[in-house]
Order: sequence, then structure tokens, then C-alpha cells
Amino acid sequence: MNNNSVSRRKVLEAIGLFSLFAVLNGKAHLENITMDEAPEMPGKILLDAHNHIGKRYLQPRKLEELLHVITSGIVGISYCSNKNNALSYDDVLRLRHHPGVSVEEINAGLLCQVAYKGRTGYAMKSQEIMAEDFHILSLGLSRNLADRPVAADAINEIKDAGGMAIIAHPMVHIDLKHPLSIRPINEYELATLEQLSEIADEIEAFNAQNINLIPGRMWFNQLNEQSRIFCRQSGFNGFAVSDAHDRIEQVKRSGVYLEQLGEPTMKYIHVSIKVGLFEPLERYISNLSAVKAFLGL
Ligand SMILES: [Zn+2]
Repeated sequence: MNNNSVSRRKVLEAIGLFSLFAVLNGKAHLENITMDEAPEMPGKILLDAHNHIGKRYLQPRKLEELLHVITSGIVGISYCSNKNNALSYDDVLRLRHHPGVSVEEINAGLLCQVAYKGRTGYAMKSQEIMAEDFHILSLGLSRNLADRPVAADAINEIKDAGGMAIIAHPMVHIDLKHPLSIRPINEYELATLEQLSEIADEIEAFNAQNINLIPGRMWFNQLNEQSRIFCRQSGFNGFAVSDAHDRIEQVKRSGVYLEQLGEPTMKYIHVSIKVGLFEPLERYISNLSAVKAFLGL
């Protein structure tokens, strides 16, 4: 059996399991969480550094939703080599050609201010580098790095180039050849994670995609709890991100509140994370939003 038929079988199996569970548990399981906007905190600004927003939000009938989301807080626009349909930082810069939108770069290729209809927010370039063992979120680099087989090499390359390396969803292993092969890391991978924690700048303690969707297959809230414990034991404050997949309502479900001292700069963001001057916002995406993203709705 070739890889394609294996992954097709896995997709069908997962859909089957999910459908069975959805029928048994109904609407309540799907609409388990209200996807309301992130609370405003006086004197603070929300940074959600890890998002793969669908390019389709550039279409005229969707653009208002995109502009609404990127005109408050700091939204990470994360490049990922296997997500061709994701919005890029350059796409955000080009929004300056849209009537009524102002886009001004603060740090070239890294951070810009976006203003529209009386609201002001910031877009920040980031990248998720997919090594075979772990995924690494890089901040503060304007060029995209190549995916490396080994996460340690990616972390070293990011730091050598002056960027910041954050271990993404540390307790989840994703096999890139089989999109639905998402599973908890094994003991061997945990040993690698311990080594990576020696060189990483931060670790995601909370990733909003670690939802309880399919019993026995994707029941992942506990992996965030394990990440939190791992961060505490290895001396990290623990980062929080949405890791939005395509759908705009997933952006800023989670993130970290930074102290707002005037206009943010990359240097300020970098230092705030490094010294742990942030407060996490930890909210999952709803199961319905995850299913819609999976089905491309
Ligand atoms: Zn991601």
C-alpha cells in the first residue's frame, strides 16, 4: 500500500470516527466554545505570534474581516512551506493600496502598523520551520529559512541570524507525509525536546489547536497541560499562541499580553518575551471552527 492510500484511509477513518462522535454528542460537542473576541486589557497589547490565515481573506467580500482582526493587537503572520494558501506578511503590506487603509512599517520586513476605520493594530512576520522532529516558530527574521531535518539546526540558524526561536506545540508530533498523523510525542522525542529546551528562547505552553475533538485520536487538552509542566520544570515562562489554521476567527483566541509602552518594535517584543514580561491568554478554538478549517469551509 502506498503512502497516498494510507493517508486517504486515515482521513476516511478520522472522518468516520468524528462523524460517529458528533452524532452521539450532537451540536453541543461542535459548538463547545463561543468564539468571541479577545478581552482588551488596559495598558497592555495582545501578541498572537503564530497564525496561518487563509489568503482567501484578501477577497473583497472577506477583506473587512481580515482588516478588523489585524487592526488590534499584534498579529503574527506565519510563513510555513507547506501552506501555500496562507496570507504572507507581504500581502499585508500590499493592503496599503486598499482605500482607507494605512500600512506603515516600523521594522522593515518584520513589523508594520495597520490602521483602518479608526482602529490601529500591528502585523508581525513569523515563520514555522518544520523539522522532522519538532516545529520551530521563528520571530524577527525577514527572510524565510529552509525547513531543516533537525530542529536543533533550525534553532541555531534562527539565533545566529539574530531571531528568536520558540518550540511550537512541543508535545505534539506531526508527520508531514501523513497530514492526519498527529500524535503525542514518544519518550525518545521527549529526550530530544529536553535537549532543544537548552537552546530555545521560549516554548509554547498553550497552543489553541490542542482541542478535544475525537476521543482516542485527537483529545489533546492534556498535551497543553503537559507542555505547561515541561515549561515550568525547564525554567520557561510558557508562551501562548492560536496557531490559527485558515479561519480568521481562530486568530487571537490565545496569545500573550505585553506591556504597552507606545509603539511596539521588534526589539521590544523580543526583550519582553526573553525576560518573561508577558501574561498568557489561553483559549481554545471551538471544535466547529476546527472542522470548518479542516473541510476548507
Ligand atoms: Zn503553525
